[in-house]
Order: sequence, then structure tokens, then C-alpha cells
Amino acid sequence: MDFLTMTIGKQKNIALIAHDSKKHEMIAWCDEHKEILKGHFLCGTGTTARMITEATGLPVKGYNSGPLGGDQQIGAKIVEGRVDFVIFFSDPLTAQPHDPDVKALLRIAQVYDIPIANNKATADFLITSSFMNEEYEHKIINFHQNIAERARTL
Ligand code: PGA
Repeated sequence: MDFLTMTIGKQKNIALIAHDSKKHEMIAWCDEHKEILKGHFLCGTGTTARMITEATGLPVKGYNSGPLGGDQQIGAKIVEGRVDFVIFFSDPLTAQPHDPDVKALLRIAQVYDIPIANNKATADFLITSSFMNEEYEHKIINFHQNIAERARTL
């Protein structure tokens, strides 16, 4: 399969998502890493974004609430190359009405080789990585070629 080299810029486009039982943990995490987060572009699902901004003053562009399609909006931004880093504090102990959307977001982050943390320890490791201050090149499937190939062979 053919791959394209894409660049995650020095300033990352970071999406922040927290399920309800994890929202306070997310706010505390954002507060702890506020100085680093200030240097990047932040967005998130509606309620998470609003609560982070209110508690920390960080500007976080809010999409729809997760259960109303916010996770899907963020997934679409990954596909468009407009989100390149995700912190997603999901709740492993509670069934979510939008579980298919959550799975879809995890999957698309994997397809596009996007750094994604689903707990605090991983988020701590990611945010303190030296790659946070550098450009990072990664490879994704060449979808144009993929489509051409599929249209030709199917
Ligand atoms: P919320 O959505 O930030 O609007 O609560 C998060 C989620 O449940 O995915």
C-alpha cells in the first residue's frame, strides 16, 4: 500500500474529551499542564470544552456534546487533517449511549496515526514528550491512490 507523509506541526491541534465521571480529572490535568497547552490550539466536545474554559481560562473551541455527535465531529476533523492530537478520558466503567461514536473516533485516530491518550498516565507521557516542541512526520495511507485502486479493481 502507498503512504503519504504528513506533518504534525509544532503547534498541535489538540482535541479534549472527557466522559462525565472524568471531567474533573480532565480539568485538573489541563490546569496542571496549562503552560504547555497555552501554546497549542485546543478544541473539544461541547461540555468538556466549556468546563475547561470556565475552570482554567484556556480557550477551547467547543463542538457538539459527545452524545449529540461531538465525537464524530472530532473524528471528521482528524480525517480533514485539522485535529492531530487527542486526549480522551473515557469512562471504562459506565455504558455510554454513544459507544459506537467513541469506537469510531478511536478507530479513525488509529487509521490516521494520531497520538491519542485514553488515561491520565498516557496523557502525561504525551504532553511531556519532546515531540510537543517539534514537528513530527508520520505516514498515513494514500487515500487518493487507495480510491483509484479500489475503483479499478472492484
Ligand atoms: P461532552 O461529551 O464533553 O459534551 O460531555 C463528551 C462525551 O461524552 O463524549
